[in-house]
Amino acid sequence: MAESKSAYPILDESDQNGEEFIHRTCGMTILGKRVTHPIWYKGMTAAGGGEVQIEIVPFCPKCEPAPNPHGDPIYI
Ligand SMILES: [Zn+2]
Repeated sequence: MAESKSAYPILDESDQNGEEFIHRTCGMTILGKRVTHPIWYKGMTAAGGGEVQIEIVPFCPKCEPAPNPHGDPIYI
C-alpha cells in the first residue's frame, strides 16, 4: 500500500491558506465535520461505557458528501 502523506487524502488535494485549506479542483474551503466514534470494549459484544472519541474529519462541501457524524466504533 502506498504511504499517504496525511490521514485525510482530501488535504493532499488542497492548498493551505493560513488557517484554511482550499480544495484545488473546485476552490471551495475545506470544512471540518465532527464525527463521534463510540468506544467499545473488545470481547464484549456491543458493550461500551458510553465513551466516545471525537474526530474532526475534513471534507469538501462541493465534491464530497458530508461525513457520517456517527463514526465506526473503536475497539479497545
Ligand atoms: Zn472540492
